[in-house]
Amino acid sequence: MNQAQIQTRAPMAPEMLRCRMCHTPVESGPVHVCEECFGPLEVVYDLDRLKGVLTRDQIARRPTDVWRYVELLPIREEPTIGRGVGWTPLLPAPRLGKALGVRDLWIKVDSSNHPTQSFKDRVVAVALQRAIEFGMTVVGCASTGNLANSVAAQSASAGLQAWIFIPEDLEAEKIVATGVHGVRLVRVKGVYDDVNRLCAEVADRFSWGIVNVNLRAYYSEGSKTMGFEIAEQLGWTTPANVVAPMAGGSLITKLRKSFKELTTVGLIEPATEPRFFGAQAAGCSPITTAMQEGSDRIRPVKEPRTIARSLAIGNPADGTFAVETMRETGGWGEGVSDPEIIEGIRLLATLEGVFTETAGGVAVAATKRLAAVGRLANEGATVLCVTGNGLKTSEAARSTFELSAPIDPRLSEVERLVSAG
Ligand SMILES: *Cc1c(COP(=O)(O)O)cnc(C)c1O
Ligand SMILES: [Zn+2]
Repeated sequence: MNQAQIQTRAPMAPEMLRCRMCHTPVESGPVHVCEECFGPLEVVYDLDRLKGVLTRDQIARRPTDVWRYVELLPIREEPTIGRGVGWTPLLPAPRLGKALGVRDLWIKVDSSNHPTQSFKDRVVAVALQRAIEFGMTVVGCASTGNLANSVAAQSASAGLQAWIFIPEDLEAEKIVATGVHGVRLVRVKGVYDDVNRLCAEVADRFSWGIVNVNLRAYYSEGSKTMGFEIAEQLGWTTPANVVAPMAGGSLITKLRKSFKELTTVGLIEPATEPRFFGAQAAGCSPITTAMQEGSDRIRPVKEPRTIARSLAIGNPADGTFAVETMRETGGWGEGVSDPEIIEGIRLLATLEGVFTETAGGVAVAATKRLAAVGRLANEGATVLCVTGNGLKTSEAARSTFELSAPIDPRLSEVERLVSAG
């Protein structure tokens, strides 16, 4: 932001942390859980202060990245990183809509996010900015792939050291797209939950900023920028339905929070809340299973079995909040099979020209099911969140087409192919 833009900004909200279970207030800092009850922590702001102060015109004049909504993010200083992160296209998807039976369908294309082609670029920008404000020089994460890519890339450009912990069986593309940034890449034997547990110990032992452990309260707030953008891109209105893939369950929870906050500060008119729909792979669906069983308890999945590795979190940190988000808004959750995921990737690629990774295939497949059983609200826009890029899970898409044998460079050969149809 240049000087003029800084001057048009409302003063930063001095944010605090608060336990989401027992509501005990906690001083802002790199803390993992509530000391009273071990519950997760959440950032709270004094949003009333921004009412009528932060305006649409003011926001319209700002650069198009996550800091466009800086007053609603948990940072205290002028951001020095995260330029160009966010502000991804929101595109009408009439051809996919027709195929799925959804009237006013839109896709939020986070598969084109800067710098690493997934929605994780948003959460990492906010977490690393806060890590810098805390004086940290070493950061890291436990990751199912996309988070590893983004922490690696953004720590490189921020000049921070990074230690990245991943399950050993990640897709080759996600390993390369992490290692190339010159970080310490640690492959751990076991599933994501083993990696996450290890990282909780690492954060305590070394005082590093592990973005999804002791910086999680800040990290997760970055997801809100996706919702802020959707509202602004729809002309400061909210959609009727939102379909989002779920891993730890944070994104869907924060999308809801984003629309609530925009209403609180007066940037959008109070309206009916969107219905929130969560999508998981059947091979690792602790959240959608709890939703469908009408239970508040998440039963962890010990051995996830799905091609959607980016969503394969067996013990989701925000699972109960995700269930609450779906239930309270009249939404629903669907767990889809691997063949449905591949078909979802194919539909989005062939009908809208967007190549998504397995998580996007999960969202498309879930939308198809939801439309078929009439769970989506009929009036108003439906936004399908495409959270990752197909080039990172290319193996999953390999079976969607046949590769024909090479031909000799002769016109007669092409004539032969054309006449064969
Ligand atoms: C991490 C991730 C999600 C979901 O994230 P949560 O906030 O943990 O639910 C969705 N899609 C992709 C591609 C991801 O990498
Ligand atoms: Zn507590």
